[in-house]
This record gives sequence, structure tokens and C-alpha cells, in this order.
Amino acid sequence: MPPSQDFTGDRWIAQIREHLRIADRAGLEWIARPARIREPARPNTDLDVATPASARPIPPLDVADRVAALASLDDEVKRCTRCEICHSRKQTVFGEGSPTARLVFVGEAPGFEEDRTGRPFVGPAGQLLTKMIEAIRLKREEVYIANVLKCRPPNNRTPEQSESDNCFPYLHAQIRTIRPEVICTLGAPAARAVLGLEKPVGQMRGRIFHFEDITVVPTYHPAYLLRNPADKVLVGKDLQVVAK
Ligand code: SF4
Repeated sequence: MPPSQDFTGDRWIAQIREHLRIADRAGLEWIARPARIREPARPNTDLDVATPASARPIPPLDVADRVAALASLDDEVKRCTRCEICHSRKQTVFGEGSPTARLVFVGEAPGFEEDRTGRPFVGPAGQLLTKMIEAIRLKREEVYIANVLKCRPPNNRTPEQSESDNCFPYLHAQIRTIRPEVICTLGAPAARAVLGLEKPVGQMRGRIFHFEDITVVPTYHPAYLLRNPADKVLVGKDLQVVAK
């Protein structure tokens, strides 16, 4: 935890209680934050990607339950004031897509357009993400798209660790509600939040990880690709892994 946070203060205790309450509502039976990687990373080969996700040790949720759980969580997010950046947001950006999606994309945080519209990945990077989704023969509405942070950091700065820690329980609850087979993290902050790894994307992509029982495929953020179009080839390979 960041040194700026008060471990003994009422705020910290209230924050822990809030995290546990959200986790409980999402059906979490434990908090996996300290050790997110279930298995060691392995080299990316065609054989590796054939490894199926394990059976989920949690009971099934029907679609109506998932929709209700996500709506309830969205309401909580709208009222959330855990981070200072809540004061500069126009609105929260919860996430959107299918509540039964087999594939969830996780980005870093809302940008200008997302803050303005309340929807994730709707700016130029979002348009590229839509093309990436269509490249693996899926429609945007068939997947789920969310960010680690639900509020826009001022001037689109990189999220602080404390903000990521504060907001991660919401993403975790979304994941536990949707229960996808694959999570594709977009950019280093998203991979760091889900996997707890402090590495550049270039050192993570091309490998398969697991978060709880869900396969995780890290790749570059579409905003990075807009600045470095040559790396679209690498992302194309990552998406083929996702598709398999
Ligand atoms: S970033 Fe997340 S935890 Fe922080 S105020 Fe916004 S919704 Fe709350």
C-alpha cells in the first residue's frame, strides 16, 4: 500500500469494509489481491493457447442476476468518492457489453471522450479497439469492456497506485459477475492491476497468465498503437491467441 495511506485511520478501515461489502455482493469468497497469478507464466506457443480455463468453483448466475448485479455495482461506482479524482470527473465510466461475455477487455482509465459520454473506449483508441474486436470476428456488444479506473485522471495522466488499489474491487466484482473465459489487458497499468506485475507490456505480451481461473492475455493499449502503428502486428498475434 502507498505510504500516503493511513493504515490505522477510520478512512482506511471504512475503505476495507467497503471493499469487503462490494466483494460479498459480487459473490467473492476471498480477496485474491496479494497473489493474482494462479500459475507461472509460460511461453506463448500454439500448444499453450489450447489450455482450457479451469472449471469455476462458483455457482452459475443467470443473465438477470448478472444484469442486476452490474447495475447495482454501477450505482455504487457513481457515488464513489474514494479518490481525489472523483472531484474532476464529469461522470464515472463503469463499463459496457454483454453480461455473459466470454471475453473481457480491460483498459487503464477513461479519457476525455469517455468522461464526456460515460462510455468506455469511445475515442480514437476506442474506435481502434472496436476494429481489433471485429478482427477476431466478434461484435463489440458480444464482449465486455471496462477500465481499471472508473474516473478519468486529470489530463489523462497514468493512474496512481492508490487509485488503482481503490478501484480494483469494482473491476474484480465485474469480472466475478461476468465470469469470462479470457481477459485481455490493454497496456501496462491494466496488466499490473489484474496480475500484480510491474513489467512493460513488451515483456508480458506473448505469454499467457491466469487470474483466478481466467486466462489473461496482455497486449498493448490501442492508444499506444495509434502512436506506434508498427506494433499492430504484435497485437494481431495476441488477438489470435485470445480468439483461440
Ligand atoms: S477511480 Fe474508482 S475508486 Fe477512485 S473515486 Fe473513481 S470510482 Fe471511486
